[in-house]
Amino acid sequence: MTDFRSDTVTRPSEAMRDAARDAEVGDDVYAEDPTVNELEARAADVVGTEDALYVPSGTMGNQIAIRTHTEPGDELLCERESHVYKWELGGIAQHSGVQARTIDGDERGVITAAQVREEYVAADGHRPGTSLLCLENTHNSKGGTAIAPEDVTAAAEAARERGVAVHLDGARLFNAAAALDVPASDLVAPVDTVMFCLSKGLGAPVGSVLAGPAEFIERAHRARKLFGGGMRQAGVIAAPGLLALGNRTRLEEDHANARLLAEGLSGVEGLSVHDPETNIVLADTERPASEFLAALEDEGVRASEFGEHQVRFCTHWDVDGSDVEAAVTAAERAS
Ligand SMILES: *Cc1c(COP(=O)(O)O)cnc(C)c1O
Repeated sequence: MTDFRSDTVTRPSEAMRDAARDAEVGDDVYAEDPTVNELEARAADVVGTEDALYVPSGTMGNQIAIRTHTEPGDELLCERESHVYKWELGGIAQHSGVQARTIDGDERGVITAAQVREEYVAADGHRPGTSLLCLENTHNSKGGTAIAPEDVTAAAEAARERGVAVHLDGARLFNAAAALDVPASDLVAPVDTVMFCLSKGLGAPVGSVLAGPAEFIERAHRARKLFGGGMRQAGVIAAPGLLALGNRTRLEEDHANARLLAEGLSGVEGLSVHDPETNIVLADTERPASEFLAALEDEGVRASEFGEHQVRFCTHWDVDGSDVEAAVTAAERAS
């Protein structure tokens, strides 16, 4: 079975397993795990922030960020299809007591400075007050679109002019950086905090990073404990994470495979394929997506349902050019 459902399905490499076994460890709740400390320092360095916090998942990283940036009863702004709003079980309300006000981005998920200004509300006797803007890059639901630094900056500046903090859900930050050919720090500079996943295209078995100013990370550390994310000898999982950080340059391979896959799928009758910008390929299906996917699975290929008539293929380091060809053949039979 070839698995294109997500870039989270990768198995750790032998080198990662070795690193896990050999990791120097300590109690990370006391901040005494040298491997976690090294990972946090390196991660902060890579994205250009003062400090960083290792967290078990991207979802927890985002939710800790929201909790730390806001007070109960605040409002936050986010794109309508954003992960924090759509795919995190209503955590904004559940964990932080915050109300989300959504903004319709364009077809690539970009929201403009004018939209941020228009949706911002100042706290008064009736209105909750906006305290946070959440951006997403790459934008998952829009097909892994890589939002340019100037678009991030425009929306972020509109927020910050009003004293509104900005958090970037950069689960696939390094895919965006690779596609745009800019350092990841250029995409992070306009915002206050960023979360990125080690467990997606970078290939770590587990883990994400929340990065930002030292004062913020200190408070986020408390929220991580509150959310049950305080881990002990976490160096065992942070060690593969350190290797994952070094995998940033391999993401271009996934992007090339995604382009190859999109090209192949666009010749399949009954599929309408979106041009991929990174490692995600969306295709609209003539058949109901669930039927297409079941037939595809019978041909040995898995992808995920993204709408009643839309499916998502993700490329990652466990699929290569021949898997892509096999997927196209399978899609021809399944369509
Ligand atoms: C995967 C993803 C997350 C969450 O990461 P998990 O580690 O799966 O919790 C958050 N945001 C975006 C955009 C994602 O794609």
